[in-house]
Amino acid sequence: MISLAGKSALITGGSRGIGAASVRYLAQAGADVVFNYHRNRATAEQVEQEARRHGTRVESRKADLSRDADGKALVEFAKERLGRLDILVANAGIWNVEDIGIEKISERQWDEMIRVNLKSVYSVIHYAVPHMIAQKTGRIVAISSTAGQRGESMHTHYAASKGAIISFVKGLSTELARHNILVNCVAPGWVDTEMSRPVLETKAGKKLAATAIPLGRAGTAEEIAGAILFLVSDLATFITGEVVNVNGGAVLCG
Ligand code: NAD
Repeated sequence: MISLAGKSALITGGSRGIGAASVRYLAQAGADVVFNYHRNRATAEQVEQEARRHGTRVESRKADLSRDADGKALVEFAKERLGRLDILVANAGIWNVEDIGIEKISERQWDEMIRVNLKSVYSVIHYAVPHMIAQKTGRIVAISSTAGQRGESMHTHYAASKGAIISFVKGLSTELARHNILVNCVAPGWVDTEMSRPVLETKAGKKLAATAIPLGRAGTAEEIAGAILFLVSDLATFITGEVVNVNGGAVLCG
């Protein structure tokens, strides 16, 4: 029942993990897709090749989304290549594998976390929304986290960035509803990607997944992409301002 035929999507951080799974799912559903990679062009080209098998247009572009100018250039590139911009998935983000207490978080580390995880979401939305307003339609999904709802000790700057995304999305959802632009969050729990694998592969990480997640395992990138696909599809025309939790029940455990 899901078809994105004729739709154009921009996905940030599409070269790996949740972003790459989203590129593949949206292309499979019929959308033309532009995504950015940060450093690894070879991985991005591989994702392009895989997604193009579904017969839609898929292109990538390098961008450091901690820089507003790169966010602007990426949105303009997507609009120019695809002709329109129906869907924006603001997914790019960073997380620090090592625990770091508040007394050790430097100003540089704080600023980097906020720039990459939060300012990048502002930038791409800021530049994409005028196109969506002109089209009188749009879907925006930003990726938050369980950490954005219950906090995350020893990763407080990450949690702060992800919590801010939720309040940003809630405000935007009511602001943009009159333009028929729907804005939602997907909030993953532990997902087995390159971001979290260094922890999930340890003995402690395996124990954590088995005990702290009611379903007893970390999620897959595809399980998060499925929720994103649903939210940008015609099955979700009356959902805005929501946080869709995809975490195996983990956020309920505190
Ligand atoms: P990942 O590290 O595999 O992918 C992150 C993506 O962001 C990459 O494509 C990377 O190129 C891009 N990126 C990083 N810094 C960038 C920058 N400065 N400019 C442009 N792009 C940049 O991680 P993932 O697990 O796929 O994470 C995707 C999103 O999901 C992130 O926002 C993350 O915080 C969130 N999330 C992940 C988990 C998890 O357990 N993996 C849990 C909750 C939320």
